[in-house]
Amino acid sequence: MFFRPYSGEKLCRKCFCESVENKVKATIAKYGMLTFNDKIMVAVSGGKDSLALLYILNKIEKGFPKAKLCAVTVDEGIRGYRDEAVKLAKQAFAELAVEHVIVSFKELYGYTLDEIAEITRERAKGLTPCAYCGVLRRRALNMAAKKAKATKLATAHTLDDEAQTFLLNLFHGNVWRIARVKPLTDEAHPGLVQRIKPMCEVLERETALYAYFKRIRFQSMPCPYAETALRNDIRAMLNRMEEKHPGIKYTIFRSIERLRDALEKAVEKESLGVCQICGEPTLGRTCKVCEMLHDLSIG
Ligand code: SF4
Ligand code: ZN
Repeated sequence: MFFRPYSGEKLCRKCFCESVENKVKATIAKYGMLTFNDKIMVAVSGGKDSLALLYILNKIEKGFPKAKLCAVTVDEGIRGYRDEAVKLAKQAFAELAVEHVIVSFKELYGYTLDEIAEITRERAKGLTPCAYCGVLRRRALNMAAKKAKATKLATAHTLDDEAQTFLLNLFHGNVWRIARVKPLTDEAHPGLVQRIKPMCEVLERETALYAYFKRIRFQSMPCPYAETALRNDIRAMLNRMEEKHPGIKYTIFRSIERLRDALEKAVEKESLGVCQICGEPTLGRTCKVCEMLHDLSIG
């Protein structure tokens, strides 16, 4: 029996799993995330959230014969960590017969994340591995989705991720970015595949339990670079608060929705151009990926 502190519900295993699946369906409908003939590419890291999303979308997609599901795994090149996750992702793709691709930082950019971390450590300055990882992974996913002719790119961000990102943006002073982080991104540029977050209203704790109940094998070891991230401290703080005040993460989510509406009215939409070096969509003359790769190469 599972007790859901924020709603007071007591659920058996079957009802709990159905409730998570229904929440995902309701979120998809609420934000108009999918159309009946979408080709959806799911970003699967091999962790509990992304594998749970793959299983849920695979189930939902069966009700839409014209929709198509495929998957992508990004291998950032983190020794002893990503290798196992990629293996577990591959097992899930085989079990569900989902077409998939694996793309690596090394092939795309010439560096593994371990090599990037080593370079920045030697220089004793610069960005954290997570800052590189986030930007390079985002690009890798978009490129894979474009190549597969996917119309939507689904990521497994949970309610916890959304609340953490909101606070991170606040702590970094990136208030305007709050308006840009959305469950369904705008059609900002033909070169950017629209991203959807079907699990943005499901607690991370519940995706873990869903994966456990469904006997999904996932990687539980944390990334060795996660320690350095401010996000980690925010996660711990939010978990403490949720424990004491059940439902607080949902309250934050609702506040984000209201703030986003207000901010969107206040800011003018920026129009994207293309990077002069790589031709990918960007705001400035050169994109963040090209800037990062240039910085890494000049030693
Ligand atoms: Fe990348 Fe940081 Fe996540 Fe590790 S914790 S996978 S380095 S973003
Ligand atoms: Zn570029």
